[in-house]
Amino acid sequence: MGGLLTIETGFTCNSRCRYCTQLDYRVIPQADKLDLPTEEIRERIAFAGSNGYDQVGFSGGEPTIRPDFAELIAFAKEHGFRRIGVTTNGRMLAYKSFTEAAMKAGLDGFTFSLHGDTPEVHDRITNAKGALEQAMAGLRNIAETSKRFGLEAHLMNNQILLPENTHLIREVVETMAPFGTRLFMIQPFIAQRSNSDEIERFFVPYDAIVAAVERAIPALERFGARIKPYNVPNCLLWRFGPRYIEPQFYGIRPFREHEQQGPGEFRAFKVRQWFRVPQCRDCEEMCPGFRIEQYPQPRLVDDLVAAADEFVAPRADDDAPRSLLFGGTELFTAAALETSMRRVAAAHGPVAWMTGLCERTERRAIAKLLPRASAAGWLDEVVLVGSPMDRRFLAQRVLEKGNLEELRAGLHLIGEARERGATPPKLRLLLNIGDAQRLLDDEAVSGHWLPLLRALRRAVTDAQTGAVAPALADLCFAVPNFPRGQRPPEMARQREEVKALGARLAAAAAVAGFSARLVVFGDRRGVDPIRADATAIAEAALGEALPPESWADRLFRHPGSMPEMDFLSWSPPWIFERFAEHGPAYPAEATDAAPDVTSAVRVG
Ligand code: SF4
Repeated sequence: MGGLLTIETGFTCNSRCRYCTQLDYRVIPQADKLDLPTEEIRERIAFAGSNGYDQVGFSGGEPTIRPDFAELIAFAKEHGFRRIGVTTNGRMLAYKSFTEAAMKAGLDGFTFSLHGDTPEVHDRITNAKGALEQAMAGLRNIAETSKRFGLEAHLMNNQILLPENTHLIREVVETMAPFGTRLFMIQPFIAQRSNSDEIERFFVPYDAIVAAVERAIPALERFGARIKPYNVPNCLLWRFGPRYIEPQFYGIRPFREHEQQGPGEFRAFKVRQWFRVPQCRDCEEMCPGFRIEQYPQPRLVDDLVAAADEFVAPRADDDAPRSLLFGGTELFTAAALETSMRRVAAAHGPVAWMTGLCERTERRAIAKLLPRASAAGWLDEVVLVGSPMDRRFLAQRVLEKGNLEELRAGLHLIGEARERGATPPKLRLLLNIGDAQRLLDDEAVSGHWLPLLRALRRAVTDAQTGAVAPALADLCFAVPNFPRGQRPPEMARQREEVKALGARLAAAAAVAGFSARLVVFGDRRGVDPIRADATAIAEAALGEALPPESWADRLFRHPGSMPEMDFLSWSPPWIFERFAEHGPAYPAEATDAAPDVTSAVRVG
């Protein structure tokens, strides 16, 4: 059996699914310029065809809206591919002539993305009116074309599980199985940095998924169909047996386009998107464990409180306590976040919280929590981490979403609460100097600077007097680590330029009515000496223009803010990477300490 080539043809799509992780690419001017050119796709097909690959799958975005779609299918056919498939929302297949042309060219594999059996559910999830009707017309056209021309059609479905459709797995089976669909993939929403503020909206606990699968068994039995779970541990579905469940096989190692040596080498940071449970120790499944979103909330709080205690433990009693500062709370519900603040404050005095306002706890809930926590004496400072959108690596189809819009929206909510008399704690806007310089000079993002500062001003403006309380907010700048594996610039030679940048940042802050600080962390043992030296020189030069403030004795890390969590956390890895000792993120290995979540969800 030959290999399977999967080609992500691009980002453009005719739907706007609410959970889609590519939505940010669609707001870029000329987003279609990011789609793979026809020639590049032909080259990949030709290369793969002459290297033993005999199956190809097109995905996207939505490959069927490409004008060259039928041409690419025919090209794959000419190069000996025996199975040619597409992952599709099925809408273009509503056009009979289009479906016939594609199938006659060789298209015989269809992975639909049906998320419900009614427009109320499916069209709402896909943000596309008529999408279900078109997909159903597509299924009918495939069936008719297959029958009329004796062409093969292999059908599967991939349902993204969200709170509003998880219970409808059975209905999706009953809708698609009559057309010959026999494999139903299901996968819950997975969190990442670009959608971390959607976790609460899209999170589905495993036990709801297991219950929905159980409810679908009669339909699977009736049609001889099976469910294939993604990002759901196989052990949770073992009891339904192989007759109904096709376990996910984690042994497939995709070889990505930018990997030179071997499959899986491309790992920026060791991402920690999974955790283990005690049962994993004796399990023979090849499986990464439980998804990080399912990590028990009480355990998140305990881990954080324990990390605070450990951080404070070595201190002498007469050490002047400064408010402990923590971040990495993207996975925390509002209740867990509040409990963390209250418990750490009870032990060590008021705390400071670092956030990009892209949390599971929604911004509206945060705007209510801050004044309440401040009034209760738990919280005396909030560090708002800002990073502007970064399009500099678009040529590599890498887009850093940024969070300035979210910060601004959150600050306005905090301002509204203040106007109703709810005073937030001190607000500090933290930017790394590279991003701050781009906000001053790069027209692609500079338009965000003043609106962000206006929102900060509003959040600290006294509604009665209109007075801005400067002590209640300031701007903080920090020197990020220079990128790994790259030689940092000769900072010694650029000392004057860096100092001048510091002066510009101080002036820009003053114009907006804020003071500015340079935040330093002292510890750089986690980075190699060359980068550490360059950072030290930069900090020294900036420190001549921006009064330095050390956070070395207050910023503590817990599993949620470890560098490996940078796939999700807005608490900047460029800070956390520098600490020598990296504590573990969430338990990668099965230990007794690993949370036992299976009791909630019956295993086996
Ligand atoms: S016990 Fe652990 S390794 Fe085994 S299937 Fe469950 S989560 Fe995966």
